[in-house]
Amino acid sequence: MAEIQCQGCGAEIQTTNPEQPGYAPASALNREDIICKRCFRLKHYNEVQDVPYQDDDFLEMLNQINGTKSLVIQLIDIFDFNGSFIPGLKRLTGNNPVLLVGNKMDVLPKSVNHNKVKHWLKRSARENGLEVEDVFLISAEKNQGVEELSRAVEDYRNGKDVYVVGTTNVGKSTFINTLISNTSGVKDAITTSYFPGTTLGFIDIPLDEQSSMFDTPGVIHRHQMAHYVSDKDLKLITPRKEVKPKVYQLNEQQTLFIGGLARLDFEKGERSSFIGYFSNELHIHRTKMEKADDLYKNHLGELLTPPDQDTKEKLPPLKAQTLKITEPKTDIVFSGLGWITVPEGDVTVTAHVPEGVKVSLRASLI
Ligand code: GDP
Repeated sequence: MAEIQCQGCGAEIQTTNPEQPGYAPASALNREDIICKRCFRLKHYNEVQDVPYQDDDFLEMLNQINGTKSLVIQLIDIFDFNGSFIPGLKRLTGNNPVLLVGNKMDVLPKSVNHNKVKHWLKRSARENGLEVEDVFLISAEKNQGVEELSRAVEDYRNGKDVYVVGTTNVGKSTFINTLISNTSGVKDAITTSYFPGTTLGFIDIPLDEQSSMFDTPGVIHRHQMAHYVSDKDLKLITPRKEVKPKVYQLNEQQTLFIGGLARLDFEKGERSSFIGYFSNELHIHRTKMEKADDLYKNHLGELLTPPDQDTKEKLPPLKAQTLKITEPKTDIVFSGLGWITVPEGDVTVTAHVPEGVKVSLRASLI
């Protein structure tokens, strides 16, 4: 069979293994514009299916950028830096300049200082071994900041090709569709059969006569919270509207449960406020530390929800990490969930998160 590529994602179409990328039922081969089952479901039911590429296959694919002279745009989810930053990107993309783009700024609370977000992103990239040329904040969905980014891309690329990279769920398809819609007026172009996949498995979007923007497949990052929760819970923990801060006055030896997905124990310190920034739908439960273990054991999935039953089956056990916060105005970041700001500092807390999910500290964004 001659190689046929999915008109949606560029994967090679195959009819043998539904678990592998590019699967389409044999009956689909009679159609004119063949798309794989994943793109079909995305297009018709707005439902995203994970493609079980091994991480190595993805990284191998990205590694091909190393041999090019291009501009790289790395898209990350502001609410999930650690889960959405591609480790080793520098090695994979060589000396090509990188623009770091934080997506989903529309759900940041109004009180957040955008310059502080940019600084934090730049510093976090550096801590992960990547010097970026510049940082941009956008909302791909609300079309905020995208025009400014497009202009910067024109400046930085200097006639060269552009590669857009990102882990799954950062909003890469939404971003590319918004870009295409801004320049050509075509809506939802990515899932509606048009750009041919390339030999690299990348989707080729012409920028001018000589150069293209390439959409690369989403890298699956195993540490993303998104992979540990059911689709239903993912909808609930993902902020859809501007996040409303919730303030708790806590004494030491009190605990906050973030649903049943994470937990913060206030071990030691003066009475202090803790301000939670999570999806407005995510319920935060306060209790005494001495009761927390029992509550978790007996009421996970009921009082402490999410997890729902599906999530419970795949959620790794919680792992504890004690953090001494010395600086005032510090954020405790639960990657993929949100963060808690401690305005006063000088406290000791223990954060519990599913094993593999990262907790980190940063200077407050407010
Ligand atoms: P991809 O896997 O990187 O291609 O991500 P998608 O484009 O499929 O988006 C993943 C999820 O993030 C979807 O639920 C989108 O609706 C959502 N999303 C994408 N862009 C934005 C944005 O700018 N703001 C918000 N709030 N959500 C977004």
